[in-house]
Amino acid sequence: MTSCETCGLLQTNYCQCVRLELHKCFQRLRQRAQQDKTAGSHSQSFLEETSLAVTAAESVFEFKPHNVQIAGTAATASSAIVEMRTGEGKTNAHALAALIRSIFDSSVHVATTTEYLAQRDFASNLPLFQTLGGDAELSSSEASPAANRNA
Ligand SMILES: [Zn+2]
Repeated sequence: MTSCETCGLLQTNYCQCVRLELHKCFQRLRQRAQQDKTAGSHSQSFLEETSLAVTAAESVFEFKPHNVQIAGTAATASSAIVEMRTGEGKTNAHALAALIRSIFDSSVHVATTTEYLAQRDFASNLPLFQTLGGDAELSSSEASPAANRNA
């Protein structure tokens, strides 16, 4: 078994060094997306972005997204309307899709049917967004108009 050359943690776990590298990868993708937007060209495959988002989920949550979640992520990120069954993992698929869209768009909104779900999913996915350098805010009926505008 090998260990991380930087921090010494065994490679069976994702260490902070891996998350730091993922953060840098997302920053590079954001810069490239901005350059592509300026140049008027951009990729539509989302393959690289989806791979990185899945790896990010593994490193932050220490679980491997299921194939249906990965497919749902890629489809949602490419603006398709996606129907997933109960228990297939919509929360994670949408969080990963939001992460991918944040590479291309200056703001991304995830809407859900109830405030309870919004609060629960925001709290569970915040570590993912924080690790990868995206700002995340929760919009709610109790927040001030200014706070909701920021969200
Ligand atoms: Zn390390």
